[in-house]
Amino acid sequence: MLDSLREGLQNAISKILNSNTVDEKVVKEFVRDLQRTLIQSDVNVKMALEVTERVQKRALDEKPPAGVTKKDQIVSILYEELARLLGGEGALHLDKTKTNVVVMLGVQGSGKTTTAAKMARFYTKRGYKVGVVAADTFRPGAVAQLKTLASAVGAEVYSDEKEKDSVKIAKKGKEAFEGSKNLVIIDTAGRHKEEKGLLQEMKEVVGAVKPDATLLVIDGTIGQQCFSQAQAFHQAAPVGGIIVTKLDGAAKGGGALAAAAATGAKVYFIGTGERIDDLEEFAPTRFVGRLLGMGDLKALMDMVRQSDVEVDEKATQRMMSGKMTMDDLLVQLEQMKKFGSLKKLLEHIPGLSGAVNVGELDKAEGRFVVYRSIIQSMTGSEKADPDTINSSRLKRIARGSGRNEKDVRELLSRYKQMKSLFKTSKGREFRQMVRRMGDK
Ligand code: GDP
Ligand code: MG
Repeated sequence: MLDSLREGLQNAISKILNSNTVDEKVVKEFVRDLQRTLIQSDVNVKMALEVTERVQKRALDEKPPAGVTKKDQIVSILYEELARLLGGEGALHLDKTKTNVVVMLGVQGSGKTTTAAKMARFYTKRGYKVGVVAADTFRPGAVAQLKTLASAVGAEVYSDEKEKDSVKIAKKGKEAFEGSKNLVIIDTAGRHKEEKGLLQEMKEVVGAVKPDATLLVIDGTIGQQCFSQAQAFHQAAPVGGIIVTKLDGAAKGGGALAAAAATGAKVYFIGTGERIDDLEEFAPTRFVGRLLGMGDLKALMDMVRQSDVEVDEKATQRMMSGKMTMDDLLVQLEQMKKFGSLKKLLEHIPGLSGAVNVGELDKAEGRFVVYRSIIQSMTGSEKADPDTINSSRLKRIARGSGRNEKDVRELLSRYKQMKSLFKTSKGREFRQMVRRMGDK
């Protein structure tokens, strides 16, 4: 999806990451690459200039936080600015305790029927009872198309082939499902090619069925051209959002997304293929994380926040200079334990996959309790300088903690490992990554 945009962004990033120093010249070249990539994806020129100017200004003016490299800082600036370009977070809000009614609008061929079926599938999977209303009386075969798609996902379809008035069908369909479904999706005709006609159609349907949400379906292959349609819709739709379809292989998809977001409307879903499962809830930060090849950064950040990782600046500095106490180790181990659940995500982050040994994480989880009890049996001076622990002290510590001498030796060897890891650049990168995400 959006391959050329992704490639362009990743190339620009890797140029920065591979450059020896990051000076003004490098930043400016990065910004030029960025501009070119955005404009090639049909992002409106003015918007592309605005976003790249912000990136440039921030990259040149802002100092990276302590311990964060300039390169990392620039990547995270890009990440934030692109996410901002693509609009706010927030999913379509449905209330499962009632019958939610959603109307699909959009010109013919934009993907309404396909998306209605995809949404039926999406919400069925999440435990909703979904009904679909075939209110396209305009296109021959429209009802059959919807029936085929909806039955494949197990959603019930309301249709009335004798009724020619689509607004009446929409209304009757809503009534038929009222009370028995959690979600009713009304598929409309989209007889019109222009905003005015589309808005008229919307007025009629919305006036009759009073939906909880109207969704404008836009074909992503038209790029920034979708702006006027999205804007007219956003100004007229009382409660509405946008779905951008056909982002698979759409060279202009980036422009379409940015244009839709620029109207202030929320993009709720994106269509990423012809298959029924090719629908994604749209979250700008997650989306940008993937574009930049950083895995699911948003999810990772959330989990880091949840796991309450605290970074002690002074302790980190001290450890990086090669001084580490047993208490520091305990803190590190505890964080690694918390990270256990993050390991799948961490593996997806380039640069980090090598620095974090998944086996180590597993071990840290299991051994934490043992290590903690051993450390608690050490004296203050032993904790501060574990190198002073000779064999008689080791025996005493083992006895005091109720553990084997083998366990104590294992802990000491882990201490040495961790200490040296911290002195290497990989350890530093790891700390920086954690800190950067913990800061958000
Ligand atoms: P409608 O006229 O608005 O109801 O549009 P349809 O749902 O009939 O879709 C029109 C065409 O677009 C169909 O051939 C769909 O298979 C195709 N289509 C819809 N969504 C997507 C998508 O996300 N990706 C791709 N590649 N094709 C799509
Ligand atoms: Mg249709």
